Amino acid sequence: LSYYPNQIARFTFIGKMKETLMRTIDTIYVNGRFVQPHGTELAPLFNPTTEKQIGTVRLGNEQDVDDAVSAAKAAFPSLSQSSKAERIAMLHSLHEAVSARAADLTEAMREEYGAPASFIGFSVPHAATAFLHMAETLENYQFRRRIGHAEVEMRPAGVAAAITPWNSNYGFICSKLATAIAAGATMVIKPSEMSAIQTQLITECLHTAGLPDGVFNIVNGYGHVVGAALSAHRDIAKISFTGSTATGRAIFQAASMTMKRVTLELGGKSPNIILDDADLDLVIPQVLAAGLANSGQACIAGTRILAPQSRLDEIQQRLADAVSALKVGDAKDPAVSIGPMVSQKQWDRVQSHIHLGQEEGAQLVVGGEGRPEGLDRGWFVRPTVFSGVNNDMRIAREEIFGPVLCVIPYRDEAHAVEIANDTVYGLQAYVFSADINRAKRVAEQIEAGRVVINGAPHEPLAPFGGFKQSGMGREFGTYGLESFLEPRAVLS
Ligand code: NAD
Repeated sequence: LSYYPNQIARFTFIGKMKETLMRTIDTIYVNGRFVQPHGTELAPLFNPTTEKQIGTVRLGNEQDVDDAVSAAKAAFPSLSQSSKAERIAMLHSLHEAVSARAADLTEAMREEYGAPASFIGFSVPHAATAFLHMAETLENYQFRRRIGHAEVEMRPAGVAAAITPWNSNYGFICSKLATAIAAGATMVIKPSEMSAIQTQLITECLHTAGLPDGVFNIVNGYGHVVGAALSAHRDIAKISFTGSTATGRAIFQAASMTMKRVTLELGGKSPNIILDDADLDLVIPQVLAAGLANSGQACIAGTRILAPQSRLDEIQQRLADAVSALKVGDAKDPAVSIGPMVSQKQWDRVQSHIHLGQEEGAQLVVGGEGRPEGLDRGWFVRPTVFSGVNNDMRIAREEIFGPVLCVIPYRDEAHAVEIANDTVYGLQAYVFSADINRAKRVAEQIEAGRVVINGAPHEPLAPFGGFKQSGMGREFGTYGLESFLEPRAVLS
């Protein structure tokens, strides 16, 4: 196992089974050192492609949170007073450190998520370049500005906490840490407990960048223990959270007691709007790429496909053909585009929604309950397309987090916009049209933080975040940086 050559961390291989190496991750990272947590509880780690346990992680507790917050608090005065140039140098060191182990991260992501190549190909480079994007943002940012007779200074908000979801665990560790450092804020990170192998690797990478002790600290643990302790901690001034809307609500509530600043990046049910002039040869692959990103386990997955009534049959047929042709299986095979669900729990959730869709009266165009043919182990589901979906159905309203697409017919542009906006979410939306001006006209009416026209590529400096219950605040670029800053106006 070439990717764990570690001198630093304490992976202990406790046994070798046929194809699975069991390992124990029994350290957290506090004040520049790998230390054993005070917490003693162990959580199992699984490979979703095989359903086999591949290790255990020892989880931190409230005492570990206190230690990590103290370390971050002690490191804050120095980081907050450091120069732009010093922080840019730190960001470049972090970029180099993370880039150096891209191959190991790829391997770990496959093992822990069964993530398909398309998702890994985006996530791994993006994690490392997050540091460069923040360095660029910082370079161009003015921390002082004059407004009338006031001098306004943007100050780091204080000690920050990051809480990350399983599906982009180390990507969000990188982007949130990059933003905190650019702002001059120290950080305690609570990664997803389901991604401890990736967390361990990224921690090793970040450690080699040689930042001052305490600037960042990483505490594994359950959300209701470590995450809750951070959300309520009196010395944490700012929380940057990515995860489900339900958890975001709990964090927001806990954070309100001490008026923490919060950025909440939450769930979605993104509309994927095909206008009636779209060239389906070009569009169908992009609609599926958006709808089935990371096997549908993505906050931005465009799972509500809005199709014009006039071309409904044609679109449904094309989708059915394309989805039937997708290969499901072990992501080690480059031809595979749909991997497993991350856990048994997630597999059950997707199954129950496929069942529910039929009960609600939607028709299965392709897919359905159960496992794909030939895959008798691994948390694989059948990529599923429902037709005859009404936007009031639960399958159209709830985030399923799996490869389940709902085709919803619309009459005209205004009706498409109405359906697209008829949701509690508003994270991302997709519009496809042969006429860019028409697509832009529709995009301007969509209640979402991002609208992607005709499969345009990601823009890492543009704001990212949700309208409505998809969140609060924005990440990336200047908007992200300012979410870690507090303006102070001095009038003279
Ligand atoms: P989750 O909400 O279950 O967990 C996210 C994190 O919160 C984990 O680290 C978890 O341990 C922690 N947590 C759980 N309970 C907590 C509590 N009471 N207090 C503090 N922390 C707590 O989400 P998940 O299943 O890991 O990730 C999937 C969800 O994340 C989906 O809803 C998806 O849409 C969302 N997501 C959003 C974005 C975005 O940018 N908007 C990106 C990726 C994922």
